[in-house]
Amino acid sequence: MKAFVGKGVYGAIAAGTVSIFRKRDEAVRRIHIEDTEAEKQRVELAMKESTAQLQEICEKAGKEAGKSDAAIFEIHRILLNDDDYHNAICKVIEDQQVNAEYAVSTAADNLSEMFLAMEDGYMRARAADIRDISDRMIRNLTGVTSDQTISRNKAVICASEFSPSEIVSIDKEKVLAFVTERGSLNSHTAILVKDMNIPAVFGVGKEFLSVIKEGGEIIVDGFSGEVFFEPDEETRRRFVRKAEEDGNRKRLLQELKGRENVTRDGKKIDICANIGSIDDVSAALSNDAGGIGLFRTEFLYLEGSDYPTEEKQFIAYKRVLESMKGKKVIIRTLDIGADKQADYFQLKKEENPALGYRAIRICLTRPELFRTQLRALYRASVFGNLGIMFPMLTSVSELKEILAVCTAVREELAAQGIRYGENVELGIMIETPAAALISDRLAPMVDFFSIGTNDLTQYTLACDRLNPDIERFVDPHHEAVLRLIGMSAENAHKYGVRIGICGELAADMALTETFMRMGIDELSVSPSFVLPLRDFVRKIKINP
Ligand code: PEP
Ligand code: MG
Repeated sequence: MKAFVGKGVYGAIAAGTVSIFRKRDEAVRRIHIEDTEAEKQRVELAMKESTAQLQEICEKAGKEAGKSDAAIFEIHRILLNDDDYHNAICKVIEDQQVNAEYAVSTAADNLSEMFLAMEDGYMRARAADIRDISDRMIRNLTGVTSDQTISRNKAVICASEFSPSEIVSIDKEKVLAFVTERGSLNSHTAILVKDMNIPAVFGVGKEFLSVIKEGGEIIVDGFSGEVFFEPDEETRRRFVRKAEEDGNRKRLLQELKGRENVTRDGKKIDICANIGSIDDVSAALSNDAGGIGLFRTEFLYLEGSDYPTEEKQFIAYKRVLESMKGKKVIIRTLDIGADKQADYFQLKKEENPALGYRAIRICLTRPELFRTQLRALYRASVFGNLGIMFPMLTSVSELKEILAVCTAVREELAAQGIRYGENVELGIMIETPAAALISDRLAPMVDFFSIGTNDLTQYTLACDRLNPDIERFVDPHHEAVLRLIGMSAENAHKYGVRIGICGELAADMALTETFMRMGIDELSVSPSFVLPLRDFVRKIKINP
């Protein structure tokens, strides 16, 4: 048995077999090859396998999402079987006498560069498609999965680290747990995993992948952060007991469904759920969330290889709104950038991406992108109770610009005879110190505030939320952060504006009383935290 300790991301226990997820640059090593014909045959086989997978995905997408989504995979299938693509790979194998994986990777780099240099926007967008099909080819060649279309059984997915887009690309039905060598608890990857209720441990150390073996037995304890590879009998027994206890605790919490979030002295608070995809809505409902306090829409953008169309977004937002049956649903506009990268956005590499071109800054400088999302949101608004929220705001002028775009979108829809909800609320995230400090100026312009404590903490304490090496300097209860929250709450209420917290601190029960005393109206947390938080609120008293 080998034991590892990392940081528990989501508290639950899983036991199963290891599936190693290697990134493309980890999977692709240059190996000198004598038998080039054999390598070319491997390419043929991988092409057949990739074509069959794309066919399957294309049919699935056609049924589940519509023709325009299926078309993307059809383009992938055509590109994959194009002679130029095939010849480019074989030429690298012949000329350089290298292995098929390396040849695919090199040919993909060359071809995507060529597409990127083209004038025509349509052709430039094909660069991302080439990379996508080449990733699939490499996965099929290496037999190492980063795509669950080729991993048949549910497994514990182990990796050096995951990016948010990698997490969204993995079929959750095939995941028992996640374990990584590196990773920060405040990263979007960690947040996503938590919202999906998947047991996970991050940061178990850099020897992990070299010790474990594909298909080996593994136990993951998301509570304590412990991971056991090839556990002994005693450890197995211990974890069966622990999993049973956890199951009993969760069953008891179910009794709180339908009950109010009210303290012993009568103070109420709304407890809502954060979601990252339509799939998470069922967890929000089964945990009896009062609504959706934050739908992070960027994951719709990360799961594809091109911008999601207005129609695709409309369908997604409509589904969430309908499923929540009139309960409040706050949908946040695109917050891409920093750790959330999609190739087709072609964002430049930045020295300080968290301080860079991100979120509302992208939307305001790429108006077509913003307009498309807002049109989809307003169109969907007739199907439920929608609030639209804007991330990463720092100034009054940005907010004026945003509100003007919203007005223009509404006017455009009206002119086209397209219906939209009359009562759509507009709100902003308070997640920069600037926004908190001018919250008295911002409050009269909006319907609600929601505090993003993940970024507010990062920007206030000057601590990159992705850097696990400085975690000991990140004090989430830092007085500066709490003062900014308190100040925002006071200013919100001065203008009759509702204020919630949707960052991870919302679930921190050591602060629940403080937040309630500040007058915070809503806490929005990962779905599985709704009932434990309700349980806690019902046991406390706010007034001495
Ligand atoms: C936050 O910053 O607290 C927040 C909720 O937004 P995100 O974690 O998506 O950046
Ligand atoms: Mg944020």
